[in-house]
Amino acid sequence: MTENATIAGAISTVEEFLAHALTLENEAANTYQEIGDSLAVHNNAEAAALFFKFAGYGRKHADEVRGLAEGLTLPRIPPWEFVWGDGDSPEAATFEDAHYMMTPAHALDLALRAEHQAHDFYAAVAAATADAKISEMAAEFAAEEAEHVRMLEDWIAKVPAAEATWAFDPDPPSMPE
Ligand code: ZN
Repeated sequence: MTENATIAGAISTVEEFLAHALTLENEAANTYQEIGDSLAVHNNAEAAALFFKFAGYGRKHADEVRGLAEGLTLPRIPPWEFVWGDGDSPEAATFEDAHYMMTPAHALDLALRAEHQAHDFYAAVAAATADAKISEMAAEFAAEEAEHVRMLEDWIAKVPAAEATWAFDPDPPSMPE
C-alpha cells in the first residue's frame, strides 16, 4: 500500500490515533457544514443538502471517537505533528476546489475524493501499526469510510454529469464572438 501512503509518521498509541481521528472527523464535519452553508446561501439547495448529510456523518463519527476516548487523555497534537503533515487533514483538504455554484455532480465528486482520502488514511494507519488495538480501530474506521464511498458512488451513478459551464470563469477567454 506504499504507493498510496497518506501518513508521514508513526502512530504508536491508541490515544494518538484517536486524537488524529477526532481532528479528521471534526474538520471534515466543519468543512462539509461550511460549504453546505455557502451553497444554501447561494440557492444551491440540492448540493447544500448533500454536504449537510456528510457533515452529519462526520459529527456522528466524531461522537464515536469521543466515546472510544472516554477515560483516556488524548494528546494535544500541534498541527505540524499530525502524521498527515502540517496542512489540512485528509478529509478536509480536497475542498479547496469547492465553489458555491457547483452542481450536485461536482459536490458529489469532491465528497467522493474526501471520503476516499479519509479511507486511505485509516487504511494506511491500520497497515502501518504494530499495535493490534490501533489496527482494529483503524480498520473499522476505514470500513466506515469505504461505506461512505460506496454511498457516494451509488449517488453519482444516478446524477447527471456536470456540464462544463457549471461555474463562473474568473478569467474568461477574450475570444471575439
Ligand atoms: Zn466519511
